Amino acid sequence: MTNHDLANLIFPNITKTMEDYEKEYPARNLKENACVTRFAPSPTGFVHIGNFQAALIDFVMAKKSGGVFYLRNEDTDKSREVDQAVEIIMQVLRYYGMEPDEYEYDGKVIGNYGPYIQSERKEIYHAGIKHLIEIGRAYPCFCEKEHLDQMRENQEKNKMRTGYYGRYATCRNMSVEEAIEKIKAGIPYVIRFRSNGNFDDRFWFDDLVRGKLYLNQNDQDIVIMKSDNLLPTYHFAHIIDDHFMHTTHVVRGEEWLPSVAVHIELFEAMGWTPPKYIHTPLILKQDGEIKRKISKRKDPEALMSYYMEKGYPVEAVIEALMTIINSNYEEWHTANPDKSFLDFDFQAKKMSSSGGALFDLEKLNNISKNIISKMDKETLYQNAYEWSKTYSDVLKNLIEQDPEYFKQIINIEREQKKPRKDYETYASIPNEICYMYDDLFEKMDTYDFQKITDKNEIATILKTYIEDYYDEQDDKDTWFQKIKELTTKLGYCADMKAYKENPEAYKGSVADISTVIRVALTTRSMTPDLYELLRLLGKERIEKRFKKFY
Ligand code: GLU
Repeated sequence: MTNHDLANLIFPNITKTMEDYEKEYPARNLKENACVTRFAPSPTGFVHIGNFQAALIDFVMAKKSGGVFYLRNEDTDKSREVDQAVEIIMQVLRYYGMEPDEYEYDGKVIGNYGPYIQSERKEIYHAGIKHLIEIGRAYPCFCEKEHLDQMRENQEKNKMRTGYYGRYATCRNMSVEEAIEKIKAGIPYVIRFRSNGNFDDRFWFDDLVRGKLYLNQNDQDIVIMKSDNLLPTYHFAHIIDDHFMHTTHVVRGEEWLPSVAVHIELFEAMGWTPPKYIHTPLILKQDGEIKRKISKRKDPEALMSYYMEKGYPVEAVIEALMTIINSNYEEWHTANPDKSFLDFDFQAKKMSSSGGALFDLEKLNNISKNIISKMDKETLYQNAYEWSKTYSDVLKNLIEQDPEYFKQIINIEREQKKPRKDYETYASIPNEICYMYDDLFEKMDTYDFQKITDKNEIATILKTYIEDYYDEQDDKDTWFQKIKELTTKLGYCADMKAYKENPEAYKGSVADISTVIRVALTTRSMTPDLYELLRLLGKERIEKRFKKFY
């Protein structure tokens, strides 16, 4: 009896060989140095910012080189799978403009190297495992859980490395005859890889971020197919996939670095060249004094849904991530504001390779404010409206009740050299402009009058202003001139310089008068340009708001 008999007993229906699959999935017809990258998340129902960062690098590398960026659903662990997980992943990629070139979604397979869902690839995996059994690099293991638990306990007690390797790997020495007999007798088994490695020896490999580095060789006979689930484990499945889908670069989090030893050994056992590796640094956050790994349990900003729900512009999130990917990105983009991130010369070796990369929400907020401030009103309107349709009924209603009015509001101090930076996110817009809507304004009742607090004084200022000075026809200079006249008339100082030199001589200044007008109209002491606000509100609404005070 030979390995061949064993392989046929385990996989009687697998007839295709590795050569057959090589023909089915021939080399891609791409120009030299084109990168084929993949985003290969597990269907957990969310996209972690670290995974997204890897996908962004995948996307950049493929697009820049005229290559292919594809999406593969790594669902070998069915127990972790969540409904609609693929939909969520596609949604995130599309939201950020990172449409994969190849994928399987919504009943469609796009691309010639599919299926792109691991659970649909059982046959090719089985053919791969069958091949490994035939060449003596995989074998059935009949060890029961109790035995393995006991073994582990002993290893721990004796301070030995844990795992199924060397002399602990009892089934690796079983004869083919015995294995066949056991299988025929219906004894349950898993399939293990037969490692040829020696843990005490090192092997070198090239990580494009970290450069040349070594790891201990793998000597674990890892499980490549579990009995309870006839899909292979991730370790084996992704080797088959990356080979037959012709992945050139694997971009993934540094938590995978220790697994490289077994992955490379698997590639070699199959007789294949491994892809190049880019292990991205962990994304860290500042938590008080310490920097720690951003965590999906503790930090809402660990998930991409956070940025979508908050309404950060797509460009802001990309900018913030590109900046931690390559720290010279920011400088480059400032010098080349009209270029896209795809024009940037991404360099894996410029990524931080020690201690992770700090992602700072404050910084993102600043980037976002800047980007929103530089949008022209049409763009901001379109973006905010699109976003509101999914994420904010409040904003959607504000916009829909009068799109032109909304545009005029957001256009105040926009489209100029130094535009205002009022909006951090699209979600923050309603709070910034609510006082421009009467129904919302009616619910606001905390007025921040600052210096002038006397009720009679406030009443006098407002009444005199609207009755004697305000004229909707005035241009901005005339308007301000009149505010100054009002100021003087009421015994305040219209000249800020004179006021600062001798504040005791006056009841207050033109700034205090303006503040009273501003606060009565908006409840707030900080707003965009008052002249513009007054014009947009119109005399009738101004008067109505003032009359609350007299
Ligand atoms: N499915 C793995 C994950 O979700 C992918 C690891 C890899 O990219 O090789 O982390």
